[in-house]
Amino acid sequence: MDRITLSQYRRILFFTGAGMSAESGVPTYRGKGGVWKEYDYEEYACQKAFDRNPEKVLRFHELRRQAVLDCLPHEGHRVIAGIPGVKVITQNIDGMHQRAGSEGVIELHGTLWRLRCDRCRTVVEDHGKSYETLKCACGAWLRPDIIWFGDMLDPVVVRKAKRSVEECDLFISIGTSGTVWPAAGFPALAREWGAYCIEINPEPSGGREYHRTIAGNAGAVLPELFIF
Ligand code: NAD
Ligand code: ZN
Repeated sequence: MDRITLSQYRRILFFTGAGMSAESGVPTYRGKGGVWKEYDYEEYACQKAFDRNPEKVLRFHELRRQAVLDCLPHEGHRVIAGIPGVKVITQNIDGMHQRAGSEGVIELHGTLWRLRCDRCRTVVEDHGKSYETLKCACGAWLRPDIIWFGDMLDPVVVRKAKRSVEECDLFISIGTSGTVWPAAGFPALAREWGAYCIEINPEPSGGREYHRTIAGNAGAVLPELFIF
């Protein structure tokens, strides 16, 4: 494999999707073993479902947290965390990059490890196996601070992510099918702003925005790819 000398780049950005965590054992949404094949998202992952039955939706997300806690970051997560000054934008909500030591991760779709109150705007960090509390001090139900089906992305987070994409000179996309917007537009944006763009995926999209495509699994490719 042609290796990449990291010192040639000043701003390195990784952009990850569900495939990054798949190798850790976190189920993907779609595809083989996908969560939404087994569960109906209209019952568990949209605002309407939460309004109808908050406790049921919270218990479902609690199970997803437990499934994630049973998984461990893989070598690929650790390689990313070990690159000085690196930036990470992820579509994943599982917190796996942070568990491997990455800092300042931009979580486009929120995180399972945070709850918020839409009545009084309180935000609660909660990292336990079970939720510490399901209700806000104001009495309202807390909701998982993630982007559900039909939700809008947080414009502040999207703006921050786009700025990082525009500023990077090496853009590495890993484990994303490029179907969920606006994230799907990031590789083209990076290329437009002059970054060298790489895709790592066992089933690459082969998009024209990539200068280089590496067909392989994140956990196998990443430890081999860089010269530090
Ligand atoms: P996706 O499920 O649409 O696509 C996953 C991609 O990963 C596929 O292209 C697949 O070929 C690739 N892949 C599979 N194994 C891989 C590996 N070992 N290494 C590298 N690539 C691999 O995922 P998406 O594009 O992220 O979109 C799904 C949406 O669902 C996102 O919005 C995300 O927020 C959400 N989601 C999050 C999680 C999570 O937090 N772990 C899991 C599932 C879905
Ligand atoms: Zn409240």
